[in-house]
Amino acid sequence: MFTFTPIGYVRSPYRQKFAIPRQPGLVPAARGEVVFTGEFADPNCLREIEQFSHLWLLFRFHETAARGWSPTVQPPRLGGKDRVGVFASRSTFRPNGIGLSAVTNLGWEHRDGELVLQVGGLDLLDGTPIIDIKPYLPYADSIAAATGGYAETAPGNAFAVTFSAAADEALAALAATYPDLRQLVTAVLEQDPRPAWRQRDPDDKQYGMSLYDLNIKWRVYPDGLEVVRIEPAGLED
Ligand code: SAH
Repeated sequence: MFTFTPIGYVRSPYRQKFAIPRQPGLVPAARGEVVFTGEFADPNCLREIEQFSHLWLLFRFHETAARGWSPTVQPPRLGGKDRVGVFASRSTFRPNGIGLSAVTNLGWEHRDGELVLQVGGLDLLDGTPIIDIKPYLPYADSIAAATGGYAETAPGNAFAVTFSAAADEALAALAATYPDLRQLVTAVLEQDPRPAWRQRDPDDKQYGMSLYDLNIKWRVYPDGLEVVRIEPAGLED
């Protein structure tokens, strides 16, 4: 048995699991930060980290860890139907609930009494506990001859994303607070965050997802997705 002490936690635009990209880097506009806690809020721990363009984050799948694991899982990449072994997958449901993401290093700063490290291309839920950070080492970690099995290539961005007039207005009103919001919403939705078995199908449901403190409502049409409304969370209809 081990006991891990988190070194900090993540602040991210993703406030719910639904619509989080399935790997880091798929949505470069997804910026977030690691907020260091306790004895780890010490800039000495970060000395020379600016030399590295990318970092590995090791973290706890805190939202799903209590649900345990099973020997086989159904990866979205296989349409959520076929089963593979948990160790042949990047499923969140795994023994010890530990996740691994390579992110862009956007630098650290002291802000409002906190030590924060900015990262890009994040695929983590807001509040995710960070267990460790290591530099990404291209000579060791980037393996040109590696094969990617059933996830050989990144999922295609097949969906065109458009914004209704009301959504456009909301984006304009929010531009000062969230300058990259249009980019983030587009990048998240063009991956079609619906359950794997629904992917790329038209349907007539209105979907909602949360980003920051906002609710984003969208619909699927045969030729793409439309963002219908963007409103503060809590204004649910
Ligand atoms: N890059 C990581 C994560 C892959 S799974 C790895 O390979 O280990 C990606 C999914 O993790 C996302 O779709 C998101 O829904 C989920 N996720 C992100 N943060 C989480 C958290 N703190 N707890 C549970 N699930 C989380």
